[in-house]
Amino acid sequence: MLKVADVIEKAWESGVAIPAFNIPYLPMMEPVVQAVVEADSFALIDTARPEWIKFESKGLAAVAAEFAKWRQPAYVRLHLDHVPVIDEDQQRVDVLPIFKEAIALGYESVMIDGSRLPLDENIKATRQVVELAHAADIPVEAELGAVMGHEAGPLPPYEELYASGKGFTDVREAGRFVRETECDWLSVAVGNIHGAIAAGRKDQKKVEARLNLNRLEQLHSATCIPLVLHGGSGIKQESVREAMKRGIAKINVATEIRQPYEATLKETKSVAKAQQAVYERTTWIVNEYLGIAGIRKMVGGVNQ
Ligand SMILES: [Zn+2]
Repeated sequence: MLKVADVIEKAWESGVAIPAFNIPYLPMMEPVVQAVVEADSFALIDTARPEWIKFESKGLAAVAAEFAKWRQPAYVRLHLDHVPVIDEDQQRVDVLPIFKEAIALGYESVMIDGSRLPLDENIKATRQVVELAHAADIPVEAELGAVMGHEAGPLPPYEELYASGKGFTDVREAGRFVRETECDWLSVAVGNIHGAIAAGRKDQKKVEARLNLNRLEQLHSATCIPLVLHGGSGIKQESVREAMKRGIAKINVATEIRQPYEATLKETKSVAKAQQAVYERTTWIVNEYLGIAGIRKMVGGVNQ
């Protein structure tokens, strides 16, 4: 069976990006898979630690079991998203047992998020996970720079943040980070931000983010590996399309499908209607926003 590392590599070489859809509620799985299959596209299905702590994905095993119910390996694979060493509430997390569990459950790629640590500690923490995951032939995504928004406190105004370049991934640090950790993919901060997940703020509409494409290009030449764009909801479409030509091979999408699910469920009390909303939004993302319908054969996700 084709490996996820090869799919991302092919997307990277072809100048397209594979979306990774987050599943904070288990009933979102079915409509996301259905939309990806119908568009003859390819996607990763993500769960992140904040989603089983703050939402209702219930944990690694529950997401893997739901994924197995709708299993379509030619179209979708399971990815472990953000496992932060320091979490969004500034608590230290014992991360290695989480990675061991994910690998044992069949997650095919993983992300270690040491971005709240100083550089040397981020390198050290990432390196440990790379050793563990590579021993199981699993690719590792890491993060350098600060993709803000998950934290509980209010964000500074977006334009201020963008203009200051605060938290943007540093080009020289990125080169060193990739060499020393040997991570496979790198999540970078170039103007992208996460949707809010803190209680009381998670319904907020995301601001429309822009990307510093120049910085992205420099990061791409300094690292020479597939780059990942977090906070993929609500970025200007032309920025996203341009980013795909500058090394972005994976785009995380969470808020864009979570909010329609929550809003529809709240309004109609119907899980089926909420699932329909997720299906429609995912179809729009794949077909219109990212323009990656029909790419499955190109990136190698073929039936075996
Ligand atoms: Zn993220």
